[in-house]
Amino acid sequence: MDQQKIGCFIARQRKEKGMTQGELAGKLGITDKAVSKWETGKSMPDLSLFVPLCTLLEITLNELFAGERILAEQLKTKTDEVLLQVITDWLGGDAGSGKRKEAEGTALCDILKVENVSKRYRAGGLETAALHQVSFRVEKGSFVGIMGASGSGKTTLLNLIAAIDSPSEGVIEIGGKRTADLSDEEMAKFRREHLGFIFQEYNLLNTLTIYENIALALTIREEPEKDMDGRIRKLAGKLDIQSVLMQFPYEVSGGQRQRCACARAVVMKPDIILADEPTGALDSASARQLLDTFTMLCKEEGAAILMVTHDVLSASYCDRILFMRDGEIKTSLERGDADRQTFFARILQKTAWLEEESWK
Ligand code: ADP
Ligand code: MG
Repeated sequence: MDQQKIGCFIARQRKEKGMTQGELAGKLGITDKAVSKWETGKSMPDLSLFVPLCTLLEITLNELFAGERILAEQLKTKTDEVLLQVITDWLGGDAGSGKRKEAEGTALCDILKVENVSKRYRAGGLETAALHQVSFRVEKGSFVGIMGASGSGKTTLLNLIAAIDSPSEGVIEIGGKRTADLSDEEMAKFRREHLGFIFQEYNLLNTLTIYENIALALTIREEPEKDMDGRIRKLAGKLDIQSVLMQFPYEVSGGQRQRCACARAVVMKPDIILADEPTGALDSASARQLLDTFTMLCKEEGAAILMVTHDVLSASYCDRILFMRDGEIKTSLERGDADRQTFFARILQKTAWLEEESWK
């Protein structure tokens, strides 16, 4: 990435639009100094500013990264070349390979099927379509991300899968069982045995130690104590929380609490883990650790994970991303054999494209 070149390009485009550094800064809600630093190649705009900056300068993301106008006929090669280089520079040399194939001979099977699911809410005679004809499948052991603006239906979708709420239309099957066919009691049992939840607010009990919080789930299932202890300690080791097991939730860091919630969710060996913005409240180091944990859980414990996230970096850990808007899945991206940097670039591009589409 040539920061100097990008800086000159920003300055040129800004002048072409007849804006001063101060005016551009004002429109982006940042200081003049920040714009001056970009233009002299001393720093790069923050990730969150890429899209608004490009909109203001009327350039594409690729052009911003390339630091020059790109002619339509060069677009394809330039795009791949530039984005890859930028992302590699930005995320650091080796962020791990994306190759996460199932072991040879392991049959792939769909653990979750969502078919033509719609959800309408009625409030005061007014009907809101929170979900409209949503269909997708999730394979065992895969890590699926759900992205979309606020209000696009992400939480509604997780609630329907968790059978906290029921669809107005359509069918949800987990492990071959239709959730609608289960009685309340059967559903509670099913949830305990097959689903794990990780939500932003952790939901840990403050009067119990971390160890007891994790054990609680197993106690409910009346597991023999000695099996329980072994499993909790092994999992705590993998999640790097063995040193805080005897402490209370309020005595440990946010990252450790989140990993404890993670341990509690997986100790039951659920088929699916549902996570609603699990990295939302974490600093970037804790977020990375949690995402590495998720990847490990998919690979080693065979859990499928469905994760709602706003963050492109978190999404880049997934095998597949579903992009939601206005209660529908607008498009999706498969990671395939791509490494994380490449996938990150593709998600970023898709996000920018969707943003452009939504203005049309
Ligand atoms: P997201 O999680 O993507 O922000 P939600 O699933 O929370 O979106 O909401 C999708 C839409 O459904 C929104 O328009 C929201 O106002 C509406 N909605 C969600 N839950 C309810 C509810 N319990 N009653 C009425 N409307 C709801
Ligand atoms: Mg939500």
